[in-house]
Amino acid sequence: MFFKTPCREDNVHQLDELFLAFIPGVLKDQLLKSRRDHIIDEELIEKLATYLDDFFKNSLFWVDPLVIKKIHIQRDFVQRYALIQCQNLNESDDPPLPFMDEDVFIKALDNQEYSKESLGAYAVWAIIGKGKKFFPHSIVFHSKKHQEDQAFPNDLDPSKALSHSHYCLICHKRDKDSCTRGLKTETPLKEGCPLGQKISLMHHLYREGHVIGALATAMIDNPLIAATGHRICYDCVRSCIFQKQEPVDTPYVESTIFNQVMQYAYGFEIYYALSLWNPLNISMFLPEPYHGIRIVVVGSGASGMASSYELLQRGFEVIMIEGMAVSEFPKEWHLAIKDATALVNSNIGTGFGGIMDYGITKRWNKGYLNVLRTLLQRRPHFTLLSGVRVGSEITIEEVFSDLGADKIILATGAGAPYVPKIYESLKNVHFASDYLMGLHLKNPLHLEQTTVIIGAGLTAIDSAVEIMAGRNNIYHEAKFL
Ligand code: SF4
Repeated sequence: MFFKTPCREDNVHQLDELFLAFIPGVLKDQLLKSRRDHIIDEELIEKLATYLDDFFKNSLFWVDPLVIKKIHIQRDFVQRYALIQCQNLNESDDPPLPFMDEDVFIKALDNQEYSKESLGAYAVWAIIGKGKKFFPHSIVFHSKKHQEDQAFPNDLDPSKALSHSHYCLICHKRDKDSCTRGLKTETPLKEGCPLGQKISLMHHLYREGHVIGALATAMIDNPLIAATGHRICYDCVRSCIFQKQEPVDTPYVESTIFNQVMQYAYGFEIYYALSLWNPLNISMFLPEPYHGIRIVVVGSGASGMASSYELLQRGFEVIMIEGMAVSEFPKEWHLAIKDATALVNSNIGTGFGGIMDYGITKRWNKGYLNVLRTLLQRRPHFTLLSGVRVGSEITIEEVFSDLGADKIILATGAGAPYVPKIYESLKNVHFASDYLMGLHLKNPLHLEQTTVIIGAGLTAIDSAVEIMAGRNNIYHEAKFL
């Protein structure tokens, strides 16, 4: 089994060699030619992506053949057939066939004891009908209840995600994927995904059952995918070709794909490996060799993390400086993580992540900060200095002289808040960021009476959620203006 220890920068090229040996020779030749000529061909990416699930599951881990069989039934029979063709075959509360557990169902499918339609209707009943409460640990009848028992972020339902992927028109084949390219004719302009993520191809692979392939496709342009998606970014939804009806909920699908992979045995190691080596990323499938140039990144928020990751991939050394005191990095996260449940469930204000740590409420699982932090802290040329404020504890000159920085990247926030003219003329006006930071530091601002929130962006929503949750024990009502 490959992941007895996590893969490292100095051995990750072995993954590439194994993959080249795993795929058919014709595809290998195409891939090598593409790398040599720097040709990015989406058809080739799609073909390669279809091999990634089997590559990781069959070749790199020992997985019980029965589990593999169940995964294939889940993919080929349940997702591709039953949930599409048989949704309306059984409206009643009772099972459409005598009650069968997962193993009996598989036997019935093998022996063709019932018609394909009846077994499909049974699967639908077991997953989204009344039967779902009976199968909490099923692979075949994978359900929301299963996720709750795993204690993973539990509001992502693969059946809902799949129905959105099936609803998607897979527009990239006609160069109409406005979710990625933007809708240039609309006013105001709808720009599409700022990362240029291959959204349409991701949907296509996901609905075909290639979950790891879909994840790797999204990670070509968005390797820190744990930080994006559901309840974080919506540019792709705004730019979806469906402008007069419900758009495809791509952020939901993206986060569900990530969540599903994280729930596999060694799911985090798959994500970590793909963050180092992604064969679908033709122009940079492996990290560049270390060349000794040292960059200091100030801030551990989204831009600090993204800058650090990209620099590490390009062979730089990174020292990240965070003003907040960051909790110690658990030693066991340097070892192979088979079950990522603890990783994604144990972040309550560790100090890492900037506004993602203190400013975002329960709409986002902060355990993902552990995931992102582990991607960086496992890297040998990454160092985190916490509780150090640039400008007070250390000057810019000292960053150059004492830390030996060749360059500094300031990743300390996107900009100052917009302040309407009313600010100076009214008492009791606060910035949302001060309010959220106060809560985080357990020193909340005391809000009195009705709180009016100006703005309706994500920070406004976070503030409203916190105020209504009554965490400051003063008042429990917020009104949007
Ligand atoms: S998400 Fe919308 S725009 Fe993008 S491929 Fe699907 S249907 Fe087309």
